[in-house]
Amino acid sequence: MSVFSLSGRRALVTGAGSGIGRAIAVALAGAGAHVIAAGRSSCAETAALTGGETLHLDLSDPMAARDVFAGQGIDILVNNAGIIRRADALDFTEADWDAVMDVNLKAVFFTAQAFARAVTARGGTGKIVNIASLLSFQGGIRVPSYTASKHGLAGLTRLLANEWAGRGINVNALAPGYVETANTADLRADPDRSAAILARIPAGRWGRPEDIAGAAVFLASPAADYVHGAILNVDGGWLAR
Ligand code: NAP
Repeated sequence: MSVFSLSGRRALVTGAGSGIGRAIAVALAGAGAHVIAAGRSSCAETAALTGGETLHLDLSDPMAARDVFAGQGIDILVNNAGIIRRADALDFTEADWDAVMDVNLKAVFFTAQAFARAVTARGGTGKIVNIASLLSFQGGIRVPSYTASKHGLAGLTRLLANEWAGRGINVNALAPGYVETANTADLRADPDRSAAILARIPAGRWGRPEDIAGAAVFLASPAADYVHGAILNVDGGWLAR
């Protein structure tokens, strides 16, 4: 069997209704996993592509996943759901700070905790793949809570890897570059920002959600059994520049 096979595995992907989450859900299913596509809005289109299930999960309540994993035999968790709010730092509101930190960081921790409790309770093993960002490494502009959340997510990924590697749970992250999704719609609608970003990408094009998905399959698979605490850039070369 291929070291990348997910045959017999059960995966839950948050924010699976669109963009990168949908592409990851489809790729995990393509590698043989049974996929639970979780989101606050309908994931029915994703489930039609994966042949799996849907789950309503609104992570604006960071504890929303507390009862999702017990007894479900889920082996793989992809913490993909994320939001972004753009405003100058001088004008940024507490509401925009809290909303982003709740979904992008606090919910990731408590979802991972619920998953790991279920895995350890059954004496199993697991894989967690967090979706980080270039803004786990760089400052960005006009996105203070997003940058703080993604820097925090990089640290959290390493902390959880340290605590759980010995328990058979791999915790890693992907750092996508600039990908054509709803998350970047405002950037792509701004001709100056869009051109400046494109000019800096060595690959010469924006990423597509499918560009990110193969790396998620890798990190979810037996091929990554000895990979812990890594943050894998999938960015068209952006951070190499
Ligand atoms: P997207 O299409 O907006 O996907 C975000 C997904 O998260 C949506 O399905 C969204 O559902 C879901 N979500 C948002 N708030 C939620 C909540 N409270 N509860 C449950 N689900 C929620 O954008 P994307 O680019 O694919 O983003 C996916 C991840 O990649 C995010 O973590 C993002 O930060 C990260 N990322 C993106 C880029 C990029 O260039 N696009 C780069 C680096 C990292 P709704 O449809 O209901 O809003």
